[in-house]
Amino acid sequence: MNLLRFFRRQIQVARVSGIPVRIDYRWFVVFALSAWVVAASFEQGTVLTQLVKLAPGAAWAAGVATTVGLFLSIFGHELSHALAGRVEGIGSEEIVLHPFGGLTRLSREPDNPRAEFRIAVAGPSASFLFAVVAFALMYAARLAEMRAAAAALSIVAYWNLFIAVSNLLPGYPLDGGRVLRAFLWKRYGRLDEATRIASLGGQLIAGALVVFGVWFYVRADDPFRALWLVLIGLFLWDAARAVRGPRRGRGPRTAGEAMTAPVSVEPDATVSHFIDHVLNVHRQRAVAVARGRRLHGILTLEDLKSLPRERWRETLVRDVMRPVADDLFVGPQTPLAQAERLMNTNGAGALAVVDQSGELVGLLLRGRIKRKA
Ligand SMILES: [Zn+2]
Repeated sequence: MNLLRFFRRQIQVARVSGIPVRIDYRWFVVFALSAWVVAASFEQGTVLTQLVKLAPGAAWAAGVATTVGLFLSIFGHELSHALAGRVEGIGSEEIVLHPFGGLTRLSREPDNPRAEFRIAVAGPSASFLFAVVAFALMYAARLAEMRAAAAALSIVAYWNLFIAVSNLLPGYPLDGGRVLRAFLWKRYGRLDEATRIASLGGQLIAGALVVFGVWFYVRADDPFRALWLVLIGLFLWDAARAVRGPRRGRGPRTAGEAMTAPVSVEPDATVSHFIDHVLNVHRQRAVAVARGRRLHGILTLEDLKSLPRERWRETLVRDVMRPVADDLFVGPQTPLAQAERLMNTNGAGALAVVDQSGELVGLLLRGRIKRKA
């Protein structure tokens, strides 16, 4: 178990236009495996590399170079989701590259179906574009008699085509599932219901992949592909169920259903006023900072620890609070699972809930989620 946890621990490898890029240790295993498979193919001259046969050293170099291209393709796909999100006014928490592809964690749900649609199609569009560019370069390399480069480029081109098409399958959280969700959301006007149906699609596709994998094993005697399909199926099943999960019980499903009262303090109040008049009554780790129901930030006890007691009287709340930012509030319709994820990573351990007109309507506090029947 500890070994498993070690392999899942994430490390940050880069920061691209302000977004942390993380990988976990399993990624190295998959990278090495991919480089090895591609190198072997270059050595033996199989399907995509049939016109080339390289010596072992050159084959390994080609394997590593091609694999870098494959992972850059995934990264480019994710980055275009993140950039499309930025255009829609939504920041990204992180881009994670995991063994089965990538993931862009947006700081909150899109505001409307149109934004959801645009962010979802940005990824596959980029992959299609990369495929076209790689095919063009492949033909150029062929004309220039650079056969090894042409073979590597053809692998990258087909891989991008595969990423684009497979991500368009209509099951949440795949991109196609997000497109479906945007469509359902626009049609029925309810994000939670749209999410539920789209992630049901995700589970159906995941189940089909597992069945397909087993069939491959039995009929086609292709254990490698079979195992791969089953693993991807299980991974997708897990991801889709995590979205649907909260609905299974009788507990709250959205931030609006789980929130507690919007306990708040004015930005111009002093810290000692907050401690005597707010904290004394409401013993909680964080409160909203608001004036007239407009959110200014979140004040956590954690932030006050470094402030010496003798300065409580002169320090204003607004000078020690966390100013309002993308990762400090959600809408009442945000799925609870997503809100909890955000709350666990934003450093405050709390989230304000703000309705469509921009009014503060509630608070979510880690460990204090209201579980009503
Ligand atoms: Zn995508």
